[in-house]
Order: sequence, then C-alpha cells, then structure tokens
Amino acid sequence: MTNLNAIPKETKDWSFVADEGCSECGYSPHFGQETGSRLRHTATAWRELLSHPQASQRPVAHVWSPLEYAAHVRDMCRLACERVRLMLAESVPTFSNWDQDEQAEINDYLNSDRLALSADLESHLELAARVFDQVPSSSWERAGLRGDGKEFTVQSFSCFVLHEVEHHLQDASEGLRKVL
Ligand SMILES: [Zn+2]
Repeated sequence: MTNLNAIPKETKDWSFVADEGCSECGYSPHFGQETGSRLRHTATAWRELLSHPQASQRPVAHVWSPLEYAAHVRDMCRLACERVRLMLAESVPTFSNWDQDEQAEINDYLNSDRLALSADLESHLELAARVFDQVPSSSWERAGLRGDGKEFTVQSFSCFVLHEVEHHLQDASEGLRKVL
C-alpha cells in the first residue's frame, strides 16, 4: 500500500554548500573554527520552536514537522561527532553509509516526545560544538571519504553540518508558522 504521508526521499547532495553556500537559506561558507559557537547559537531557537505543542504537526502531509526536523538535526550532530573523530584519528577513513530517510523511519521521528527531544537536541548540539571546538588548528584539512567516494575535509564537513542545522532551523520555523 502506498503511504500517502510519505516524505519524498532526499535526493539532493548538499555537499556543494561548502564551496558555494546556499541561496535558499542564505548560508555562506564559514571558517571551521566558528562552527561550535554557531551551533550553540541555534540552540535557543530550537528550544523555542519545540516549546510549541504544534511543533509535532506537519504543515502539509509530505513535509517534515518541526519535531521531525529537530530529530534529524540531533542525529546529524551525532553523525558529525563520529565523522570528525574518525577523520582526526585515521588517515582518510571511509564513512559508513547514513541514509537520513531510513533513520527517520527507524527512529520514528514523527512520534518523538517533543520535550525529551528538545533536551536531547540541545545536548547533541553542545556535544558537536565541543568536537569542532577541539579540532587542532593544523587538522582542518584532514580528510574522509563518503561511501560514494566524495571527499570531505574537516573544514568542508563543518560547512555541511552547520548548513544542515541552520537550513533546517529555517525549514522548521516556516513549518511552525503554517500550523500556529
Ligand atoms: Zn540552505
């Protein structure tokens, strides 16, 4: 049976934002050293968003609710910690595959507990911020490979991660505005 509420799979490769920025949300490539403070800076806005009971509602059937975006961002922060540690510890490691749509299903983002997720997201933003804060200044060009062979450096990966968090904060804010 077709699930009419299924979210279309993400097919766009957003790694270009590390070079080009994003015209949709206004992100420009930043220095990796600023990642920690910018991740922390989003925490208040996420908490505010998730304080609304309506944050669990999808604005339309096939678009993630603010709650689902928040769960995705939490898992992205977890992934960021793993991948940065790996790039610092190993010589050009290959990352294991990570399918965001599969994660959304497995971890049942849609039915997350809103207030528990809010606290969880805040601690994961802080953990990721610390990992980026602790990157030695000589290590930003250390590299890793995604399963499809795409090469990231710690610097370009920091752009990818921060963009995800900031872009989805806008997505989630827009979604909430539509249901309030
Ligand atoms: Zn963007």
